[in-house]
Amino acid sequence: MHYETAPAKINLTLDTLFKRNDGYHEVSMVMTTVDLNDHLSFEKRTDKKIVIETDNQFVPTNRRNLAYQAAELMMKRYNISTGVTIHIDKHIPIAAGLAGGSADAAATFRGINAIYELGIELDELAELSAELGSDIPFCVYGGTALATGRGEMIERLPSPPHGWVVLAKPKISVSTKTIYSALKPGKNKPASNEMKRAIIDGNYDSIIRLLKNDLEEVTVKKYPEVKKLVENMRDSGADGAMMSGSGPTVFGICKKERQANHVYNAIKGCCSEVYRIRLLG
Ligand code: ATP
Repeated sequence: MHYETAPAKINLTLDTLFKRNDGYHEVSMVMTTVDLNDHLSFEKRTDKKIVIETDNQFVPTNRRNLAYQAAELMMKRYNISTGVTIHIDKHIPIAAGLAGGSADAAATFRGINAIYELGIELDELAELSAELGSDIPFCVYGGTALATGRGEMIERLPSPPHGWVVLAKPKISVSTKTIYSALKPGKNKPASNEMKRAIIDGNYDSIIRLLKNDLEEVTVKKYPEVKKLVENMRDSGADGAMMSGSGPTVFGICKKERQANHVYNAIKGCCSEVYRIRLLG
């Protein structure tokens, strides 16, 4: 049996630059992992099946699961003839803008690499994983990174300064596709390169000042409660607050644990799904 941890990510920036000829948006974003994890285990099988097990009724156990697709791709690419049982202990909220499915897929690329002792470098796994989804290469590495292209080109960065994150997910489902299709890219000044500089310098105040997500204004137009939540986070004492990915999860960043506790308690009153966790990076 082999175990992998799959952490959620938040976007510190998400710049949408232009729409490409292939239909994807050219983006530039700084992402970082947070201490909210799915736990996956991997066990070789004697037959050829890929079996996904999970206690969470909202996680698909068929081909629709990104972990299934990752296992299938690994087996094809590296001529593995026996199957695998993957157990997913789900903790990352689903369809939340926290890349939970991508994190599970990334853990599967690493997990299959480990149980079949393939010895493949992370760079090669990341490149292969881009065939499945734009956020997966970042999740293969974890940590903190600048992601460009459609999100699959990764430049790894040092960890951000220590800090706390309060995550809150309103009870709504947001379709990433719908948000991107309503977006006018290139409208706002990009912030990712400056954010990269702030991370390298370990400058907490600049990181807070530079938080930026082009998708936030689009999601907020459809779901005003997301904006309210961002304001609530700030009003209750977070140094900075923003929506992650295409939403609807909102995060607040706090330097001190006591401050994060305060924000957590304030938000808990108005939102049922709230987490107080550490930035990992
Ligand atoms: P992103 O931030 O990359 O847009 P997300 O956090 O918004 O991702 P996910 O949690 O990855 O969204 O799930 C989106 C959909 O993908 C779910 O509705 C679910 O049906 C499907 N899915 C596929 N594989 C998984 C998985 N391993 N865990 C959760 N959902 C999965």
